[in-house]
Amino acid sequence: MTSWTLSSWRIEGETMTYSLSPTSLNLFVNCPRCFWLSVAKKVPRPSIPMPSIVNRFDGIVKDYFNRYRALGELPPIIAWQVKGRLPRGMPTSLRHEEDNGVLLLGRPDDYLQLEDGTTVPFDHKTRASPPDGTHPAHRLQLDVYTYLLGKSGYETVDKAYLAYYYPEDSDLHDGMRIGCTVVEVITNPARVQDLLLRACDVLNGPIPDPKTDCKYCKWVSAVQNESILFRVGTNAQ
Ligand code: SF4
Repeated sequence: MTSWTLSSWRIEGETMTYSLSPTSLNLFVNCPRCFWLSVAKKVPRPSIPMPSIVNRFDGIVKDYFNRYRALGELPPIIAWQVKGRLPRGMPTSLRHEEDNGVLLLGRPDDYLQLEDGTTVPFDHKTRASPPDGTHPAHRLQLDVYTYLLGKSGYETVDKAYLAYYYPEDSDLHDGMRIGCTVVEVITNPARVQDLLLRACDVLNGPIPDPKTDCKYCKWVSAVQNESILFRVGTNAQ
């Protein structure tokens, strides 16, 4: 549920290093040009305001999980779907500096300690209806978390969990019922390093071409053409 973007860069001596996150890596996968503009030039895509109900719901879920963590129990809403326990003392954010100086950061919503003692990421997602698959962006997010857990020295496996929350038909005067489906995801941390290398190559190169099917860059290009026409028209007067 956490929405977190970190795309800053710093210069250490002669070497420029970048900080990347699941959000920026997903942007790289989606469009290298937008990624380059956002990370290398600090010109991010315009953000869309997050509905405040999502933040409120996020807080309710976290408080609910923390209550059961203190009791040493799994919250009843997930206890019938997974086995394990909510570990204590886990970091709120994970980080690892690659050999080429790239800093990778991730902030899982929570973790689950499985019965074999390994610890895996556990994230919360809010939806309008029960899940019908796992979004590729969420898969990459979980791949990064597994990668970072391993790099941070935790005993982990290539696995993560997503808890989807969605409203169910209810008589509102009795309160709104919330459904919860927990999905196990097999993660692929091995692809993260390759992705980081490719992302870094892009950052250190020239601005990539726009996607051919993106209406926003077409719009920018149309506006630029219009402004040239306008300037030509103005000069002519
Ligand atoms: S093609 Fe679309 S996604 Fe890519 S840089 Fe242009 S606006 Fe961004």
